[in-house]
Amino acid sequence: MNTLEELLREVRACTACAPHLPLGPNPVLRAGQSARILIVGQAPGTRVHRTGIPWNDPSGDRLRDWLQFDRALFYNSDRIAIIPMGLCYPGKGTSGDLPPRPECAPLWHPRLLAALPDLQLKLLVGKYAQDYYLGTRRQSLAATVRQFRQFLPEFFPLPHPSPRNIRWFRNHPWFEAEVLPALRSRIDTIIGRAHPGSTPIP
Ligand code: SF4
Repeated sequence: MNTLEELLREVRACTACAPHLPLGPNPVLRAGQSARILIVGQAPGTRVHRTGIPWNDPSGDRLRDWLQFDRALFYNSDRIAIIPMGLCYPGKGTSGDLPPRPECAPLWHPRLLAALPDLQLKLLVGKYAQDYYLGTRRQSLAATVRQFRQFLPEFFPLPHPSPRNIRWFRNHPWFEAEVLPALRSRIDTIIGRAHPGSTPIP
């Protein structure tokens, strides 16, 4: 069986959908053997493609605020794994970046997750990750996020923290009032953190 390091080397050399990638393959992911929390986002943008650092932008700042993580913890791959639905930048569409390449998650996620035996929570950030892992294609992201309890303890669905979703956050005040405290409580338990602002999940 491959070690995680060997597997990561294999993933980083992947060219499975190269003809579809305008900037070429450049898988961006982070994972250490002892990671307990996995963040499954969408796909790298051009900046992440260039720098190789995921979530190093205002979306990442908001996500860290939701999780109450500082950058040191967020980027500690021995504690937090970051594996998006598409590992390479997929290109631009008519309204923003294209969806993650559909062949990517089925190709790599099962093997990567099997190589991370200590994972206790998978944060599904955005609809692509939720539809893949939860089968929620037929319902809205808001409905999935509001029903977060039914996916615990393995999964926690979240909206994308992009500044472009400010209106969604304003229109769904229960997210901040009910979902974030529950998220922080679940994370407190997993990483052994005492957090005064969190409430137990009923
Ligand atoms: S997007 Fe995924 S499947 Fe396509 S080249 Fe990158 S790692 Fe391989």
